[in-house]
Parts: sequence; C-alpha cells; structure tokens
Amino acid sequence: MEYLYDFHVHSCECSACAWSSLPDMVRAYKKAGYSGLVITNHFLRGCTCVPSDLSWEEKVHRYWDCYVDAKAVADELDLDLHFGIEENYGQAQEVLFYGIDIDFMLSNPDMCEIPIEELCERVRAYGGFSSHAHPFRERDYIPKDYKRMDITALDGIEIVNTANGGDADQKAMELMKSSGLKFTVGSDTHNVGTVEAGILCGLIFDHRLRTTEELIAALRSGEGKVYKKQK
Ligand SMILES: [Zn+2]
Ligand SMILES: [Zn+2]
Repeated sequence: MEYLYDFHVHSCECSACAWSSLPDMVRAYKKAGYSGLVITNHFLRGCTCVPSDLSWEEKVHRYWDCYVDAKAVADELDLDLHFGIEENYGQAQEVLFYGIDIDFMLSNPDMCEIPIEELCERVRAYGGFSSHAHPFRERDYIPKDYKRMDITALDGIEIVNTANGGDADQKAMELMKSSGLKFTVGSDTHNVGTVEAGILCGLIFDHRLRTTEELIAALRSGEGKVYKKQK
C-alpha cells in the first residue's frame, strides 16, 4: 500500500490569502485520495488574518482551535491531519514548521521575535522539523536580489511546490543535495478548487503517518517518494 501526504496547505481561518475552510480542505483531500496532510497556515509575521490586537494566547488558539475542530472531521474520514505553520522572514524567505503544538506556542511567546536560527533550534529540541518553503519562487513581489536565509539552521528544503513554475523545483532539489538537508514536498493549496482540479503534489510512504512522532520520523528518514501529478 502507498500513503500520500501533503506538507503545505492553507485555510481561511488563519491565512488571509486562503478562501476555503479547513474542514472543506480535509474533505477535498480525502476525495483526492490522500491519506493525510499538514495544515501550515501563514503565521503571525506572514499573510495572517488573525487580528493583531488579540493576546498571544488568543492568537495561537486561533491556529490551534481550527486544527482541533477539523481533526474531528479528519478522524471521521480516517485521514491523518497534522499541525504546522508557515512563518515569513521577509523577501519571501518562508519557513514551514512541523511537529509543534499549542503547548509549544504558549510556552514560546517570543517565537515571532527571535532569530530564525533560534526558532529552528527550539522546534528541533521539541521534536519538530523546519523546512525552507519554495526556495526559488519567483514573483513580482519578490526582489530579484533577495538574500537567502542561512539554511544551515534548517532541517529541510521544500523541493517540490505545485505553485512553482520554470526550473524552481529543479534548483530546490540541487540546493537540497548540496546542503545535505532533508526534504519536504507541498502543494501550497489555498482552496478546494485546486485540490479538486488535482493541482497537487506530496510525499508517498509505505505506512501511515498517524502520530506527530511518525510524521517527524518519516521526514528525518528521508524515505518519502515524491509525488507530482503531471499536467
Ligand atoms: Zn498564502
Ligand atoms: Zn504557503
């Protein structure tokens, strides 16, 4: 048996640029044949729709509570829903964090202020995993002469992202190989339309990733096979 997972998904409860709810995304991924996904909404430095005047506790609960609500839907469908975030470090330098939870966020109220290297270290110490999202994305809003973050602090690189064009994925693969880092793959979906249209990618495993520990161990082992639907 093969089990397909998406490691980069947004929903409208917390991402300002997304327009489908997480329960709807969960149902769409189930229909598309996935065994699971990680919800990686834009965190508080990025394209968030969580109001800035809330307390830290209220803000992080917005992220966690919509995950918990959707997890009930996912459990019902026998789909593995995991929690993550995508944080923004300017000039489109974005990092996906996996394996964290509400306790991590509540006990790290400075996580949006500390250097990326320190946050990666704390996430790793917590048993989590960090990955450089779409490292060669080209967009009008990204300056051509941007400076890449210090990737040695990270655990992995997103080597395939469905929203990337040209040779962005090829370059990401080369960066991953030369850096010695692990890899993730994610569709970066923001609505059910692209899921239903099958504009998707992911990683295939020979076993289910039901727990956070299984998810992180699978990323650390590098055992996933890349899935990208041919257009
Ligand atoms: Zn977005
Ligand atoms: Zn994203």
